[in-house]
Amino acid sequence: MPSRTYVADCDVGRGLFAAEPLPAGVEILRLTGSLLSLNDVRSRGAQAANALQIGVDRYLNLEEPGRLVNHSCEPNAGVKDDTQLVALREIAAGEEIRFDYSTTISDGWTMPCRCGASGCRGLVVAFQLLPTALRQRYAVLGLVQRFILEAVEA
Ligand SMILES: [Zn+2]
Repeated sequence: MPSRTYVADCDVGRGLFAAEPLPAGVEILRLTGSLLSLNDVRSRGAQAANALQIGVDRYLNLEEPGRLVNHSCEPNAGVKDDTQLVALREIAAGEEIRFDYSTTISDGWTMPCRCGASGCRGLVVAFQLLPTALRQRYAVLGLVQRFILEAVEA
């Protein structure tokens, strides 16, 4: 099956792009990688950005192409059921695919943001620190890691 995506250079390094128009809601790819603990992630320094948090002490050391998906404060994709990258709206062929990293972060990790969106928050932070309306929007869309929502509901 031909891939619906391709990897290319973008303004923050390499990124994942749509090879064809992707309809809203479609699965783009599965985010996969070996399991890491929080300690493993912390020992990786700058490479920590390649880890996807899927539990309080559970991370995936993302493999390509999933690890090349960049962050945006105004994303066109999101992560559903912890590892499923889905289109949040229709994505045009040639458009870079990005999700909001804050929807997958509950630890203290932060990253200065250079996403370039008009609504850029300037800093990528844990989900709990997002504005309430934005947290609710992502939750309604099902684009928040399950362990984060479980912590909020507990
Ligand atoms: Zn931003």
